[in-house]
Order: sequence, then structure tokens, then C-alpha cells
Amino acid sequence: MSNCEKKWVYVINSIETNKETIASGARTKELITKYGFNFKKSYGQNFLIDTHVLNKIINSAELTKDDYVIEIGPGIGSLTQELCSKAGKVTAIEIDKKLIPILNESLSEFENLDIINEDVLKVDLHELIKNSGYGSAKVVANLPYYITTPIIMGLLENKVPIKSIIVMVQKEVAARMQSKPGTKDYGSLSLAVQYRADAYLVANVPQNCFMPRPNVDSAVIRLTPLETPKVEVRDEVFFFEIIKSAFSMRRKTLVNCFFNSGICNSKEEIAKVLVECGLDEKVRGETLGLVEFSKLAEKFLEQRGL
Ligand code: SAM
Repeated sequence: MSNCEKKWVYVINSIETNKETIASGARTKELITKYGFNFKKSYGQNFLIDTHVLNKIINSAELTKDDYVIEIGPGIGSLTQELCSKAGKVTAIEIDKKLIPILNESLSEFENLDIINEDVLKVDLHELIKNSGYGSAKVVANLPYYITTPIIMGLLENKVPIKSIIVMVQKEVAARMQSKPGTKDYGSLSLAVQYRADAYLVANVPQNCFMPRPNVDSAVIRLTPLETPKVEVRDEVFFFEIIKSAFSMRRKTLVNCFFNSGICNSKEEIAKVLVECGLDEKVRGETLGLVEFSKLAEKFLEQRGL
């Protein structure tokens, strides 16, 4: 979309909602100057200043007034503003106390918003959702990149009742989350995410859509958590131990990976398990999917007499 078209989207938005968007360079500068706010790199503070990207995030979330939304890291409220307009209730969790007075001003018109000044990793999301009265939540966020993986894995692993997760992450992390066997980005994160969710790339986002500009490209990804994992696994801890071991030395065969990480202390036994699973003895982890890894985990458990 050209800059001219972008301007029209912005104007149309403003007309539709009759409000000034926070997601613009001018409004962002105005607010941070007024409050003497300094961006903190350590908190991953890169604020969204592009309404086109904002619309893609919001459209992908398919919000209605029946939705409860949890936003992680509202910043000065650019995304929060749209979330509050579309959803029934929004809880925004922001670690930086210097942003709270700015949010109180920029979002003062919304009565369906709660702001929590806390580290998201310390918040009990089960409790939050239970107290919301909505039963489940959608998570929508432009994530602080330094804690992308713990946040996403926490949401997926702790069985929090989440309908969808629409998040801005570093482009290469988005690629890893949705990549398939045999591709260069495929690895343990791909398997961990795809075991529990369907992943869909919503948009690639260039650096100039943020203030300040980050030094990496970004992407919006939508994860839809599954009710039951994609494959049946008897011992999840062991299943992920196998996967971690398989990708511990990318260029090595599985026989060497499993031997070196102590999954089994006989290379002959490992080769036997591989063959029993219908795999080549020289196979590498990067070509195997969830089904093959679940078979391997089961065979090793049987081999241990479990
Ligand atoms: N949502 C805003 C936007 O799109 O412009 C800001 C996004 S910025 C990439 C990430 C935000 O997460 C910042 O406001 C930062 O202070 C906040 N943040 C960083 N670490 C956090 C944590 N552990 N818990 C909650 N918020 C955090």
C-alpha cells in the first residue's frame, strides 16, 4: 500500500471512530514529550506508529463485544485504543510504571479497560480470566521481544483458556513458529508451538512502523490453541527432551544427537529404534514432524520398559 493509500486508511479510521489515533508518529511524540518519557531498550519499547499494521492486527483478532482481551505491554495505548473500541473488556498489563499516567490520559474515555502495572510473567492469567466473567480470553499484543518465547510457551503450556493469540514478534521467531520440516527455520520452537496450536502468518512488518525503529524486522502471527495436542504423547517431558536432543547439533544424525545427550547409551540400540519407527539410520531431526517424534518417544519408553 502506498503512503497516500495509508493516509486514506487513517482518515477513514478517524471518521469511523471519531477519535484521534494514538498509532501515529505525531501523537506518539506529543505524548512522550508531554510526560518526559524516555524509551527503555531493556523493556523492548518500540511503539507502533502505523495504522495499516494496526488494522491488520485488529482484523485478525475478529473482536466483538463478547470478547475479553488481555494485552501484554500496552505502551502508550496505540493498540489498546482499538481493542477497547471493539472488545467487551480489556485488561492491559504494563511493567513500566512511567507509562501508567500516559495510558490514563490517552485511554481516559474507556470504561471497559483495566490497567495492571506488573510484569506479565508474574500475573496469574487463569485468575484474571476467571475474575473477568468471560470464561476465556483473546491475547493481542505487540510483544516485548526479549520475552517472546516464555510468554507464548507459558500461554500454550499452562492451559490458560485462550481462544487466540495475535502477536507482533521478531520476524525470524514468527518464521520458526510456523515453519515445516525440512526448512531452514524449522526447529524445537516450531514443534513446541505446532504441538499445541495452529500458526498463521498475518503480516510482515518493516522497521519503519515503530518508534523508535527496532534493528530487526517484525511479523504478526496468529496462534489458535488446540483443545487437544496435535499428536498423542504419553510423557510430554520426555517427548520434548527427545526433540531438544534432536536439534542440539543440527548437522549431526539423530543417532549421534541421542547418544551424546544420553537419551540412550548404545548407538546400535538407537539405530534399532529408528528402524522400528520406519526411519533411516542416518536421518536428521530437521526432516521429522510431530508424528515421527511422538513415535520415537514411545519406542524409547518401551525400550526402557516403561
Ligand atoms: N503495545 C505498544 C505498541 O504497540 O505501541 C507497545 C509495545 S512495545 C513493543 C512492548 C511493551 O511491553 C512496552 O510498553 C514495554 O514496557 C512492555 N513490557 C516489557 N516487558 C514487560 C513485561 N515483562 N510485562 C509487561 N509489559 C512489559
